[in-house]
Amino acid sequence: MKNADEFWDNVDIRGEEECWIWQSYVDKRSGYGQATWLGKKHNAHRIAYITAYNCIIPDDIQVCHSCDNRVCCNPNHLWLGTSKENTWDKMSKGRHGNTSIVINWSIVHYIRSKYANSIMSTRDLSREIGITDHAISLIIRNKSWHDPNYIPSIPDPSSRARCAKINWDIAREIRTLYSNGMKYIDIANRFNISRDIVEGVVRNLTWKE
Ligand SMILES: [Zn+2]
Repeated sequence: MKNADEFWDNVDIRGEEECWIWQSYVDKRSGYGQATWLGKKHNAHRIAYITAYNCIIPDDIQVCHSCDNRVCCNPNHLWLGTSKENTWDKMSKGRHGNTSIVINWSIVHYIRSKYANSIMSTRDLSREIGITDHAISLIIRNKSWHDPNYIPSIPDPSSRARCAKINWDIAREIRTLYSNGMKYIDIANRFNISRDIVEGVVRNLTWKE
């Protein structure tokens, strides 16, 4: 498969609620559709998820079916869960119970807002949600669960301290300065914060009012 179009040519695309059956090679042992994507063999439904949501899925995250139909490629029937590595990670911390954590969009939004508003660190979120720091970090940076409208308010953990300089007074001042015509970058320099943080505040993605 060279591109997404070529991949989707092999899927019987139907209504939003229906299963979209993979029409090409199916691995007999696993029952999953398979294809080569960017030089590597993958399950077809994983490629479906990657191309549908335009995201990178870390190796320790699995694409799971809500319909239990292994050859289904309907993105609406696919969700991301954690794999054995995370299970092991949880076990090693003495936490048993569910073998996989179901991540959905509402959890993703929850993680992003808690982090953007400096309420919780990646470690806090990792503990609360039950997935690894790495998986949390990918969500925060929009690398997994890609949302074209989401602006990572904190591009990397090292800028976290800079984010902490914001409070409600500053957030409101940022909005006033922007509505008075000041540029993102100039506002950022004024408060010694990153441009992304300013944009997040201006667009009401963080410090929501
Ligand atoms: Zn399905």
